[in-house]
Amino acid sequence: MLGLYISIPFCRSKCSYCNFASGVFGQERLDRYVDRLVAEIATARAQADSLQALLPRQVDTI
Ligand code: SF4
Repeated sequence: MLGLYISIPFCRSKCSYCNFASGVFGQERLDRYVDRLVAEIATARAQADSLQALLPRQVDTI
C-alpha cells in the first residue's frame, strides 16, 4: 500500500501561527499548481521505473 501527502498550500488568509509553506495566491497560480500536480501524478509510474524504485499500485491513504 502507498500513502500520499498532497499539499495544496493556498489559503484565504495566512494564519499568524502557521509555519507551513503556504500563502495567499491568485487563482491563476492555483490552477497552474494543480495542473503541475496532476502531471506529476500522471508521470509517477514512469519516474519510479526510471529510478528502479518500487511504487505500489494501490493507495490506501491520501
Ligand atoms: S494554518 Fe496555515 S495552511 Fe492552514 S489555513 Fe492557516 S495559513 Fe493556511
